[in-house]
Amino acid sequence: MTAPPTPPDLDAQAPRPTARQGDSAGTDGGPDGLVADGLAVDELVADGLVVDVLVVGGGLVGGPLAAALSQGGLSVAVIDAADPAAVLAAEFDGRASAIALASQRVLAATGLWDAIAPEAGPILDIRVTDGSLWRGTSLLFLHYGHEATGDQPFGYMVENRTLRAAIQRVVPDLPGVHYLAPARLAGLSRDARAVTARLADGRRVTARLVVGADGRRSQVRAEAGIRLTQWSYRQAGIVCTVAHEEPHGGIAHEHFLPSGPFAILPLPGNRSSIVWTEREALAPALMALDDDAFLFELKRRFGDFLGGISVVGPRFSYPLSLQFARTYVDQRLVLTGDAAHGMHPIAGQGLNMGLRDVAALAEILTDAKRLGLDPGGAHVLADYERWRRFDNTLMLALTDGLNRLFSNDLGPLRLVRDVGMAAVDRMPGLKKVFMRHAMGLVGDLPRLMRGESL
Ligand SMILES: Cc1cc2nc3c(=O)[nH]c(=O)nc-3n(C[C@H](O)[C@H](O)[C@H](O)COP(=O)(O)OP(=O)(O)OC[C@H]3O[C@@H](n4cnc5c(N)ncnc54)[C@H](O)[C@@H]3O)c2cc1C
Repeated sequence: MTAPPTPPDLDAQAPRPTARQGDSAGTDGGPDGLVADGLAVDELVADGLVVDVLVVGGGLVGGPLAAALSQGGLSVAVIDAADPAAVLAAEFDGRASAIALASQRVLAATGLWDAIAPEAGPILDIRVTDGSLWRGTSLLFLHYGHEATGDQPFGYMVENRTLRAAIQRVVPDLPGVHYLAPARLAGLSRDARAVTARLADGRRVTARLVVGADGRRSQVRAEAGIRLTQWSYRQAGIVCTVAHEEPHGGIAHEHFLPSGPFAILPLPGNRSSIVWTEREALAPALMALDDDAFLFELKRRFGDFLGGISVVGPRFSYPLSLQFARTYVDQRLVLTGDAAHGMHPIAGQGLNMGLRDVAALAEILTDAKRLGLDPGGAHVLADYERWRRFDNTLMLALTDGLNRLFSNDLGPLRLVRDVGMAAVDRMPGLKKVFMRHAMGLVGDLPRLMRGESL
């Protein structure tokens, strides 16, 4: 039986005093032209690394942010508590992410996509069905084909491991980037002119702005005393990869079951990533099943439309909850990605929203730099909050509402959603709007998401 790993507790990982390539402990030249309040940042500190922006968390959001800021001409320090080698292991994170087309453009513009593309699978069609284990699948369903909006796919499926490997390969060598990992934040001190971070190994980094890209349990957020609104869905996301006999044709399936959505997402080759939402109380028993019994339960939900299936690699279970920070900004501090907003994976939007934060923040900070403004200035940060808060809140509400509508077996609701899906399926105009949403092409898009440069 494969040991069922649970996601590692990043906050519990011990810091190690070694640094990866690009590490520049000690005195650094500091950024050019960063003068605010009549004083350059590098005049503020006698020792330690000095940069424009400190990004805490070099994960799926912090990594691309560092790349985008480098492209905008800002100097950046990225610190990440995790051991770079450990995060690439199969046991670390079994998830794959649906990267919407607009998010793919961000990864392409920041030079990360070339390292990702060989292992990315296009999402060509999306098929949504409703049903239950004993009643089977409803005959009313929704089908989106990418050709209805042009020749571009909806997006790509990429294993998180591939994204992390690309970040590690590309980001440390970018101009102006200091990539420190493993390196854990120990504390922050902020004043009107700068922010200084103390690392657990004693090093110091001083910047005009600190960005919290440190995930759901953000220490940056806690340091600023920013409070969270949150609730648990009492559901777990069971994740694994399956190999199947027949090709998936690039079709992503979202099958709504009473316990929550069961998603089959196309990876390169005859493989798919499974996100199986299950009641919180039942998930531990499923995770504890031996391989044969687990496969039996999986097949009951998966069906046989892709021939025989087998589970490849370990399985994982993630507790599902919603959370959002009451504000995204504070003095010389800003939150991005899951540190600002954590949502249900029902629509595969958490990382996509994080990459929207990246594109918007990089644009605002680059423009500020060009205008000679302080990148940590209150007006600059207020622009970011205004831009991103509404969009993220809408997506939080949408994913929350979808989960409430679909994760149940109430007769009247079942009727409403089945009739609703069939109706939308017959309305090409409305379908096109939904498809553009799935591609991430709706709303006030930052330049990087429109395919333009910073
Ligand atoms: C089951 C499941 C499926 C999902 N599927 C999708 C999908 O298909 N598409 C999608 O868009 N989203 C998806 N998501 C959401 C997506 O995984 C998250 O939104 C995304 O990982 C957030 O990235 P992040 O960089 O903000 O945070 P994290 O991935 O949590 O990264 C935080 C980083 O900060 C570092 N860190 C933490 N604390 C410190 C510290 N004190 N000092 C230094 N470093 C620190 C950590 O080591 C880590 O590298 C899914 C989520 C789940 C649970």
